[in-house]
Amino acid sequence: METVLVLMHVEADGSLAKSALEALGAAKSLGGTLVVGLIGANVQAAASAIAGCGAAKFLGVSGTVFSQARYGTDAAAAEALCRAAKATLVIAPATSRWNRVLSGVAHRLGGRSDTHVTGISAATTQGVGVTRWYYRQRMEAVLQRTQRPWFIALESGCGEAWKGSAGTAKIEAVVVTLSETATRTSVSGVKAPASDQQTIRPDAKILFVAGAGWTKKQSDGQTHTDEAGEIILKFLGLTKASLGSSKSLVDLSGEGQSVLPFMSHLNQVGQTGATPRHPKGLSTCCHGEEPHAVGWRFISERRAVNLDPNCGWARGKADVLYVADAFEVMRKVNALLGTTKT
Ligand SMILES: Cc1cc2nc3c(=O)[nH]c(=O)nc-3n(C[C@H](O)[C@H](O)[C@H](O)COP(=O)(O)OP(=O)(O)OC[C@H]3O[C@@H](n4cnc5c(N)ncnc54)[C@H](O)[C@@H]3O)c2cc1C
Repeated sequence: METVLVLMHVEADGSLAKSALEALGAAKSLGGTLVVGLIGANVQAAASAIAGCGAAKFLGVSGTVFSQARYGTDAAAAEALCRAAKATLVIAPATSRWNRVLSGVAHRLGGRSDTHVTGISAATTQGVGVTRWYYRQRMEAVLQRTQRPWFIALESGCGEAWKGSAGTAKIEAVVVTLSETATRTSVSGVKAPASDQQTIRPDAKILFVAGAGWTKKQSDGQTHTDEAGEIILKFLGLTKASLGSSKSLVDLSGEGQSVLPFMSHLNQVGQTGATPRHPKGLSTCCHGEEPHAVGWRFISERRAVNLDPNCGWARGKADVLYVADAFEVMRKVNALLGTTKT
């Protein structure tokens, strides 16, 4: 029988992120002995919030030194939690914090690690198997391993977050002996765009994909890039949707064409971009195969607005294609959304 340890770090306010609860949900579905391992400045509130999860044990590494993401302290804490739990399977949300340390911790414990896992199941013929996508998200494989401990970083948005009753969890404190070098890195601050300027929102209900058409000459023979930017930002502001882009649109700045200033390569979806997961997607002024075939393959409900009724990718990959001018459609959508909000 497997001993399944779920590794979670608590957020600055002491809570657990949705991705941590998704990892807990996946771990629970495997059966076996469940152990929760928490790290953070103070882990009691987080443990109590998931007290009803059925864990055999709650292990905690706490203290201000463990509040910030840092390889030395995170790896030492994870190693100590794995040893204390005698874990055979270790499941962690694929946050940048865990992704950075899991392979190192697996090495210290003689285990193996897999990242970018999109599903875990105990129902395969040889015990636990994980699913992972290859060749730019075009082929899905199921992997199994005999080596233990097996570290699994689970991508966010791939499973149900655990829901259940809170209570008062009894935490067993795990003591970590830190080497002299473990704390030599300190985080002096975080530089990030203001939240209203941040256009990539992994937890948003809608992904809005903008294509290069927004910057092309329109029926009056002119480009309307400034207006395009205003329309897109207004829609994002009203819906809190996440913004994706085609490669052509983000590449335009390098070609000296008028561009949308808030768009960067980080927004790009597709074969050489991201493949985000959102319940709904709306693609506008976008023709390319890669954004349609790969970029939004994990979007559940897909709609597109394109002037071109023969756009094979929009037609082939969207559930609904509106053959229309995206400027007109989105102006109207924004007006309707504005009315609903006021
Ligand atoms: C190896 C490789 C990897 C690639 N990887 C990626 C990738 O990861 N992601 C990616 O996006 N691309 C990728 N590409 C590029 C891709 O093939 C396309 O060139 C690109 O996606 C096209 O971008 P687009 O659809 O925005 O622009 P365009 O092809 O210029 O299409 C613009 C569309 O806007 C429509 N339009 C114009 N005005 C309006 C209007 N007013 N209302 C409605 N519709 C309008 C037009 O009808 C047209 O369909 C890759 C290419 C290669 C070779």
